[in-house]
Amino acid sequence: MIKKFIRRILGVKSKADSPNKPVQLGPKEHGIDPQLLSPNAVRVTQTLQEAGFKAFVVGGAVRDLLLGVKPKDFDVATNATPEQVKRLFRRAFIIGRRFQIVHVMFGQEIIEVTTFRGASSEGALKDEHGRVLRDNTFGEQHEDAIRRDFTINAMYYDPASQTVLDYHNGIPDIRNRTLRIIGVPEARYREDPVRLLRVVRFAAKLNFNIDPATREPIQVMAPLINNVPAARVFDEMLKLLMSGHALACLQQLRKEGLHHGLLPLLDVVLEQPLGEKFVRLALAGTDQRVQEGKPVSPGFLFAALLWHQVLEKWHAYQAAGEYPIPALHLAADDVLNTQTEKLALQRKIASDMRDIWAMQPRFERRVGKSPYKMLEHLRLRAGYDFLLLRCASGEISEEIGQWWTEFIDADGPGREALLARKPKIDGEAQPAKKRRRRSRSKHKDAAAGGDVA
Ligand code: ATP
Ligand code: MG
Repeated sequence: MIKKFIRRILGVKSKADSPNKPVQLGPKEHGIDPQLLSPNAVRVTQTLQEAGFKAFVVGGAVRDLLLGVKPKDFDVATNATPEQVKRLFRRAFIIGRRFQIVHVMFGQEIIEVTTFRGASSEGALKDEHGRVLRDNTFGEQHEDAIRRDFTINAMYYDPASQTVLDYHNGIPDIRNRTLRIIGVPEARYREDPVRLLRVVRFAAKLNFNIDPATREPIQVMAPLINNVPAARVFDEMLKLLMSGHALACLQQLRKEGLHHGLLPLLDVVLEQPLGEKFVRLALAGTDQRVQEGKPVSPGFLFAALLWHQVLEKWHAYQAAGEYPIPALHLAADDVLNTQTEKLALQRKIASDMRDIWAMQPRFERRVGKSPYKMLEHLRLRAGYDFLLLRCASGEISEEIGQWWTEFIDADGPGREALLARKPKIDGEAQPAKKRRRRSRSKHKDAAAGGDVA
């Protein structure tokens, strides 16, 4: 009775006589290539099944397998409790935040194992806007399926029998390239407003169409994101920016009207005409690295997204009479403080951002020992890559980037020759010229020296 009521509330269509029965597909029907599976994920499901439990690969991995894409990580869903899972593996750790999960470690690879969640969020503790605060009940597989966000993310794959279980018409949605939320969209966004960001991420990353009913409430409900703890918003934004499709995601955010007053970061990133080229280049570079399987540093990424805001404030502080280096630090403080109210930038990331920003004026000082000190800087690579972005976006002269490329590559005499070479000033971009002149001031030298220590 209660379950029927919940299904009605969530607007879930009953399938035939038994609404809890999934559609089952064999290997010929789903066409999943077993080679794309992680052997460790198979090991986990097998161990759980041999111990008498149900266990399936679930979520994004099944979606990617059905799309013929190698999943970047694997989640497993089971009816074993976290304690029961932990006991079966040598290196397994229970991680508890909103919901307890188990990380089973195999070298670098982590398989995330979750116990099926109970269906009802009715009894769950909620905030005044309807956001679910705590909900730790375990349940049946069909209940777990209804709790997932999109139909394409709610399928289960059993590697042993090579069967896909589909509870919410995920297969037709995959085939039609449609992103559809499970249940009544308004209710699902209210329970967890982070899903608004997830719609955008998946639509952009997979190049899927958003079902009209799923799309319709997005803009109106956007302010609910303000009630979500900053750390969760940060996690989701990071997933978006590191998805390998960050540029497409940001364009989609704009398209869905999610860029106004939602997060200060997005306002800055999406509405800065001067920095647009810079951000576009930074994101394109990040997307390329992710797609090539290379690591990307969140610190570098956020430093780039916020650079033009820093620049603006840096100029303003200097115009108000501050010396360049203290002005840059004040600007960095301002920007980081505004951002962290809504976006919990972890301390390590914030300190990486600060380092990268602080290095910038020092690259423009190409006299005496200063460039040699830069070579010893722990973050030389990141700072230099950032400098090249500034050159490529037209903010400063290409000549500075070329000079540093040569200086880093050169041997001792080569470096001396480069230092003796008078930097070409004619034809440089105007702001660079201004800063170079300022950078020769006595105060800046002192402050820059202090920065190295
Ligand atoms: P990706 O490949 O980008 O990691 P994913 O689908 O695996 O995509 P995750 O954030 O890793 O995304 O989440 C794993 C699964 O957990 C999802 O596929 C979905 O079934 C479920 N899930 C995650 N977040 C939510 C949420 N906010 N609401 C409901 N279900 C969620
Ligand atoms: Mg995932």
